Amino acid sequence: MKTPERKEVRNFLPYVAGKPVEEVKRALGLKKVYKLASNENPEGPSGKVISAIKAALKDLNRYPDGESFYLKNEIAKKNRVSPSNILAGSGTDEIIELIAKTYLNPQDEIVVSRHAFIRYRMAGELMGSKVKTANMREYRHDLKAMLAAVTRRTKVVFIANPNNPTGTYVDAREVGHYMKSVPAGVMTVFDEAYREYVEEADFPSTVDYVKRGRNVIVLRTFSKIHSLAGLRVGYCIAPEPIIKSMNRIRPPFNVNTLAQAAAAACLKEAGRLKRCRGLVHGEKKRLERELDRLGVEYVPSVTNFMLIKCGNGGEMFKKLLSDGIIVRAMDEYELPGWIRVTVGKKNENDAFLRSFKKNLNEKS
Ligand code: PMP
Repeated sequence: MKTPERKEVRNFLPYVAGKPVEEVKRALGLKKVYKLASNENPEGPSGKVISAIKAALKDLNRYPDGESFYLKNEIAKKNRVSPSNILAGSGTDEIIELIAKTYLNPQDEIVVSRHAFIRYRMAGELMGSKVKTANMREYRHDLKAMLAAVTRRTKVVFIANPNNPTGTYVDAREVGHYMKSVPAGVMTVFDEAYREYVEEADFPSTVDYVKRGRNVIVLRTFSKIHSLAGLRVGYCIAPEPIIKSMNRIRPPFNVNTLAQAAAAACLKEAGRLKRCRGLVHGEKKRLERELDRLGVEYVPSVTNFMLIKCGNGGEMFKKLLSDGIIVRAMDEYELPGWIRVTVGKKNENDAFLRSFKKNLNEKS
């Protein structure tokens, strides 16, 4: 059958997500499967968040609040901006696409970094825009190289900070230099999906650039440390004219009722975030020590996941999978020799280490 899809759709390579636990159990007939593939928090949502979801259940006969009014107020208070500086989305994934739909024409360009989160590139390609890729330096975004890739046609620069899958970040000084040089008309998106995991004092305060009216969008999500990946909710902070433009084309009820209630409840749990962050960094140190002992190379990460070198990432992915450990191969990130592993609970990390060691030895 001949169907009239756009050529951008015909040529589009779909996103490959981490495999769900149930699918792997079914396919391989395994009882125990550990998912360390999607940088989720292994801790489920807190009792308070679950209570907030339960309380919202009775309203499910109604459409959600299309303005996410209460949630935006909570986010605004926390970040000391106005609710008019905020747009909530069905995950930041939706917001990345919304940015592309709002700003990109086919003749425009976007700038991304090699080995950066792939959804920026995909959003640009979907609009038929040209994607310019700057090289990294030591697995970190090279903001000078990204600036050098900016031309008269550049509309948006995407910076994942910290970046997935490398787990690295650019600091306040680097971002400061970048912001001094980037042309005023070029929009910069700082995707801070993993920001809450970062303990480093020199991490930039990008919301300050929004407050100064710079052409900046800051993305945050409830999918990672906040444990709400299954509900799909994230937000962006940006100057009002940017939010107004994106709101014009935003689907009217894009954040569901349960997601709004749960996300607002999450914002009142600073203590829990600290605890989750501590658990992750403790377990990550343990993984690092084990990998050092094995002489295996990895990229030091400020997040809840690690890029680990293992010869052939695709092969290692398959071997781990057959032991019930789901990780991610990195071929689509141009890192075929690596796997990305999310830091899980102690027993999950132990299961990963056992299988990883066994499979490393098998290879040699
Ligand atoms: N940005 C980055 C850097 C990510 O790693 C992810 C999730 N893989 C997202 C955005 C999208 O997250 P969500 O749509 O769940 O908010």
